[in-house]
Parts: sequence; C-alpha cells; structure tokens
Amino acid sequence: MFNISVAGTGYVGLVAGVCFAEMGHKVTCVDIDNTKVKLMQSGVSPIYEKNLEELMQKNYAAGRIDYTTDFKAAYKAADAVFIGVGTPENKDGSANLSFIATVARQIAENVEQDCLVVVKSTVPVGTNDKVEQFISDFLVNDVRVEVASNPEFLAQGSAVHDTLYAKRIVIGTESEWAENLLKDIYKPFNLPVVAVNRRSAEMIKYASNDFLALKISYMNDIANLCELVGADIQDVAEGMSFDDRIGSKFLNAGIGYGGSCFPKDTKALEYLATQNGYDLKTIKAAIDVNKDQKTLLYKKASKRLITLNGLKVAVLGLTFKPGTDDLREAPSLENVPLLLEQGADIYAYDPIGADNFAKVYPEGPNGKGNITYVTNAEAALQDANVCFIFTEWGEIRAVQPEAFKLLMRTPLVYDGRNLHEVEQMVDAGVEYHSVGRPSAKRVSREEARERELQSSKRG
Ligand code: NAD
Repeated sequence: MFNISVAGTGYVGLVAGVCFAEMGHKVTCVDIDNTKVKLMQSGVSPIYEKNLEELMQKNYAAGRIDYTTDFKAAYKAADAVFIGVGTPENKDGSANLSFIATVARQIAENVEQDCLVVVKSTVPVGTNDKVEQFISDFLVNDVRVEVASNPEFLAQGSAVHDTLYAKRIVIGTESEWAENLLKDIYKPFNLPVVAVNRRSAEMIKYASNDFLALKISYMNDIANLCELVGADIQDVAEGMSFDDRIGSKFLNAGIGYGGSCFPKDTKALEYLATQNGYDLKTIKAAIDVNKDQKTLLYKKASKRLITLNGLKVAVLGLTFKPGTDDLREAPSLENVPLLLEQGADIYAYDPIGADNFAKVYPEGPNGKGNITYVTNAEAALQDANVCFIFTEWGEIRAVQPEAFKLLMRTPLVYDGRNLHEVEQMVDAGVEYHSVGRPSAKRVSREEARERELQSSKRG
C-alpha cells in the first residue's frame, strides 16, 4: 500500500485516484476547485462516468480516499504524486503546460520525503525532463524527487472500466528506482506493463491518440468519396473490418471526432513536429478533414433548404460522444451556433449533456434563434421541420424510422452518426441524409403513400 496524491480531479485524475483506492492504496485527491471538492466529499461525482460514484462512496467509507484543496498537506508525505491536470490547447496549437508547472512548483516547495512525481496528463515529448528540472530548481527540502511519465489511455464513457482493465500500463522512467516504484504501485491491477524511457512514453500517447484520429478522418474522407461515386461507407467498412491488419474498430464514418483529446493532441503533435523542422503531413490531413467534416450536414441542409429561419429544428445529442457529459469540441458546439445564426427554433435533447450545454446556450432566445431543452427525443421531434443527429446515445438510436415520419412536420433527417438503415428510413417515408451513404431520395407524397401501402400489405 502506498500513499498516493493525485493532482486534478477531472476525467483522468479522479478516475485514477478512485481506482488506486479500489486497489488498496491510500489516496488523496487534490483540486483547486473548492465546489468540486465539497461535492466529492459528500459522495457526489462532479463528472459523469459509469460506476464512478459508487466506487467513490465505497472507498471513501473504507477510508482509502479523501478530497482536498490543501495541496501542502497532500504533497508533503506522498510516496507518489500523480499529475492529472489539464493540458489544453494554446491559440497556436501548442499544449498549455501552465497547470502542470503550477503543480510541479507546489510539489517542489512542499514535499518532505522521497517522492515520485508521475505525469498522467498528455504532454509533449520532453516535458517530463523539464518538469524534473523545474522541481529540482524549486525544491526546498533535501529529498529525492524524480519524474516519470505514465500516460493515460482511458476513453470517456468507459473510464473506470478502462482503468481497472487497461490493455497496458505505459511507464516511462529514467531510473530503476522510479521504474520499480511505479511497477509496485500498479502491481495490484495485474495488467501488462510497457516500460520505456520517458520520451518514448510521452510519444506513445500522442502516436496512439493521433493514429485513432487519423483512422477516423481517413474513414470520413473515404465516406465523402463514397457519396460521390455511389458506394456505401458502411458496406465498405464492413468489408475492410475482416482484415486483422486493419481491425474492426474506429471504422464508423460520421461528422468527425471531438472531445478533450483528439483535437488538441493532433494539433500539439503537429506543433511539436513543426518546432523540430518536420512536416507531419498525415496528422495535418487528419486535422483538415475533421474541420470540414463537423459542419458537413449543416452545409448539406443549407443547400437543401431555402432558409432555416423560423424552422423548428430537432437536435438529438449534444455531447461529443455517448456515456459522458463532456461537450468539449463536440460537433453540436459547431453546428448549434450556425443554426441559431440562421434563426432556427431549436429543440435539443441529450440524456446527460443538456445542463452543460445550457451553460453555453441558455434556454430561450439566442441571437436570431431560440433554443429549448426537452427531456426526450420524441419531444424534440414533435412538429419539427428538420432533425440533426449529433450523438449516438442509445436513447437516440432507439428512435424508430416511423417515429420521425409520425412526429415531424416534415420528416427530413440529417444523421451525423449513421444510426439508421437508408432503406428503412425510405420505407418509413423519411428523407434521410447521412454520411458516406446514398441519401434517401426525396420521396414524393404519392411515392411515400405507395410505400406505406406496400409495407402494410407486407406486414
Ligand atoms: P479536466 O479538465 O477534466 O480536469 C482537470 C482538473 O484539474 C480540473 O478539475 C481542475 O480544476 C484541476 N486543476 C487545475 N489546476 C490544478 C492544480 N494546480 N491542482 C490541482 N488540481 C488542478 O481534464 P481531463 O480531461 O481529466 O484531462 C487531464 C489530462 O489528461 C489532459 O492532459 C488530457 O489530455 C489527458 N487525458 C485525458 C483523457 C480524457 O479522456 N479526458 C484521456 C487521456 C488523457
């Protein structure tokens, strides 16, 4: 059992802290946000992640985890301090390391025993060397402090599971002492460990994330071409997925990646490459494709409709992916302002993310448009002229083709997540546009009636 402190209680820090406690370590989670700390002390998680709150309560009751803003007390007697603070994007695309620097200095000025500082946040290659130097510059007491890299690979929406059953633990160290200590901390997890040097560990994180972003952009690029040449990206993806070298995951075309990681990590790696005089063409392309992809459906709808002004627009899904309340870089954040600017009357539904979205776009008039938050997909669709699907929540996937036809004033659907079969939507009498697949042709009233008649005869 080790005394572990964790700096930052976001998706990475809090989940790591709770999982270390679950494995028997004594954990102190530190955050600068007092409201968050109070919430956590009362057993409530400030973020939504499956099973997180239950494990917080269980380990708090067992005395294995606590939450504080008192970083001095937390860092002075820690065997290891894990840093999980944010590394957001600067305007020029580089990673903002100011939060890391603050924690590094707080550790240096307060640590009173030998301590391993473990950087979990995603940081550009070479940052850990600088953190170690920075700590040694500010170190007050005569103790050994080393820095290790331990990048995090969890996915939001399954963060607790991904941590407890991680595919691998990557540890980057520069001494046997640091390597052994980190291995011992992770021993109870019983997971494969990849031990490398610090710079390689830092690069493994970027190379992994950017590879996934590249895979998404590649499929989206192919999807756009599919539309032009009459192929269907879903069939194409299925055909590709049988090849082990390609794999079956991350082949879904859609309106681009969002979230707190892919967008900033692609830009940060490109920035690092440029700083080193290297042109990282593949990642540049992934970024470009994603930028265009996010508003693809809005552009399609704008071509199809004379105006969006005064139209009732159903928006299904606000978060960047299902299973999370996180909105960072979500396609909804790109599209909703465009719709509002056109004067749309938006009815938005998201199972978890609406409260966070309302902090950015409060209910009521917004610019030329209006936004109303509703508590189910059907309420959003009622009498709508057009529908946009931005997130593949189960609750949104469950809306049947017939429901669009039945509820909407004009069943015109732009699906950014390819949730429905084109044929079924056509059969239901819905005009359906998705990504990389033939659009459901505009169905005339007569044709729709005929289809309904045929399908009721069949049924
Ligand atoms: P987050 O923004 O959700 O949380 C960061 C937390 O750090 C906040 O609660 C903030 O109040 C706190 N903080 C800021 N300064 C602090 C200080 N001096 N002391 C203590 N707490 C402080 O961030 P996140 O999404 O958990 O990401 C953290 C890092 O992990 C980033 O580098 C990110 O790229 C990386 N990462 C994130 C994910 C993910 O899915 N979110 C996955 C892998 C890696």
